[in-house]
Amino acid sequence: MIDLMSLQQLAQLQRDFRKRKILINLEQTKYKVIEEAVQLLEWKVTPSEIECHIFWKDTYVTDEEYRRLLPYQRINHFPGSYMLGKKNELCRNLNRMRKMFPDDYDFFPRTWQLPYQSEEVRQKQGTTIFIVKPEANCQGRGIFLTKKLDPFLDKHYVVQEYLSNPFLIDGLKFDLRIYVLLKSIYPLKIFMYQEGLARFSTKKYVKPQKKNLGSVTMHLTNYAINKRSKDFIFNNDTNKDDVGHKRSLSSVLKYLQDQGYDVKQLLNQIKQVIVKTIQSVQGELSHLYRSQQHNNDGIEQCFELFGFDILLDSSLKPWLLEVNHTPSFSTDTPLDKSIKKNLILDTLILLDVKNKPKKKYLDQKRAPIYQRPIKMSLEEKEKNYTKISLLEDKHLNGYIKIYPDENKDYYEQFMPPKPKERESMINQQFEQVKNLEKTLKVQVDMKPTQLKPIKRLSTNQSFSDLDGQSLQQLTGRNIVIPQTRTTSQQRPFSSITAINRPNSAIRKTVFANQHQNLNTSQNQKRLVYPPLAEFPPKPVYKMIPIKTFSFQKIENNQKNE
Ligand code: ADP
Repeated sequence: MIDLMSLQQLAQLQRDFRKRKILINLEQTKYKVIEEAVQLLEWKVTPSEIECHIFWKDTYVTDEEYRRLLPYQRINHFPGSYMLGKKNELCRNLNRMRKMFPDDYDFFPRTWQLPYQSEEVRQKQGTTIFIVKPEANCQGRGIFLTKKLDPFLDKHYVVQEYLSNPFLIDGLKFDLRIYVLLKSIYPLKIFMYQEGLARFSTKKYVKPQKKNLGSVTMHLTNYAINKRSKDFIFNNDTNKDDVGHKRSLSSVLKYLQDQGYDVKQLLNQIKQVIVKTIQSVQGELSHLYRSQQHNNDGIEQCFELFGFDILLDSSLKPWLLEVNHTPSFSTDTPLDKSIKKNLILDTLILLDVKNKPKKKYLDQKRAPIYQRPIKMSLEEKEKNYTKISLLEDKHLNGYIKIYPDENKDYYEQFMPPKPKERESMINQQFEQVKNLEKTLKVQVDMKPTQLKPIKRLSTNQSFSDLDGQSLQQLTGRNIVIPQTRTTSQQRPFSSITAINRPNSAIRKTVFANQHQNLNTSQNQKRLVYPPLAEFPPKPVYKMIPIKTFSFQKIENNQKNE
């Protein structure tokens, strides 16, 4: 096993961190090993949601929980991290990337989401063996192998091509549990832990055949399944980490090295699998994270410790099976305990949590509003970023930084567009639509015969005789454009496009013969308010043919001209 931290180093770190008086809330985690790691740093566990600097919980963080965080607090999940942690979401995201980058994203077995992709997967029947997984289960629950998918095509499953050529050690199939710390999503910072676990199946592996498809202890490497087998050997000695059915990652790497395999290349491939997988959701995750972020002096408020499950095939190519957002921190064996305790300890150290931001926040809260600081400038943010990066390099312990690293330029192509780039892309598309609109308009203008003939308002028509569409044709407008009034209450005719408003807003039209006292010509119609007898005298409008159509006010007692 890799010696992650010497006792001397640990003592020095403890001295440094003891002064910090950090409080951690462990109310929502069942794993004791986290508290044990906290005790090594002499930090305190608190049930308080306000006092604590760190929340550690076993389930996803909800938007509401994230919003409630105080600016100095951190939590061990990112909002939206189910996009990696749920099998169906991971399938959707990696398939999307594979469509764009087929050669770079070929580390995930071909996967389909049922029932949505039932047609696609139906065609593959007979060519391969499938491993069928319930969307939301874990620890191998409900997983089975099959050749025929017909009975399941309308159910909610994730179906994967079964990798039938795994790399075997002692004739047994195994998979690797790699721990990955996503320390920041924007800017992206990913760390891989150098120690992990290798989980072995308990029955010797034979290529899948009809009669062995049901043998879970042969085809599945889950600890939860295999530990129930009578053949399972627990590792009881941390000094012999290459024994039993759960071993250390480093012991397997050493075995491969001893067999003459290129372990360095394998590790590089694994790093790429991890970075590209996280890149597939970086856009969504950073949007969720940044859209609700506090004015918090550049504190990285979320972090996530993922468990990546990797299977090696017979040519030593690493395949991603799944990503666990809450990897198990149960410690059944001394080896388990030693690896997981070190992992948590190194994670807490790398986070570099300090008490100063909390103090600053509380002081600011007491100060009047005008004395509170404004948001960090871009320059300050960059300075802060460099400072954090330098400290990270000092506090790596068992971690290695895998993003950004020397492959940063290669990874750039998989990055989602940056906010500014996205804005310019949207503007470009907007321009394209505008140009298209213009072209179409020109085409329409060139074919006037295809349009309905424009109606003209004759002098014996009231405005309400025209429906909204005719008015639009008459005025050539389809929107109401507010006009300033012309002199003596005359309005240019275009203002009556407002008649497109609800009927109730249109003045009642009364024919002249219904109002004998107005003595108007028989053919002429006028717009008047409701019957004069019922209301106090109100102005009457009539329409007269002038250059632009207009209303003209006439007094009730005035005669029509
Ligand atoms: P769970 O979350 O229930 O553990 P996994 O996707 O990790 O589900 O699958 C469980 C086990 O099944 C893995 O540990 C591995 O041994 C085996 N397995 C999963 N997918 C494949 C595959 N495509 N090819 C071969 N074996 C697989």
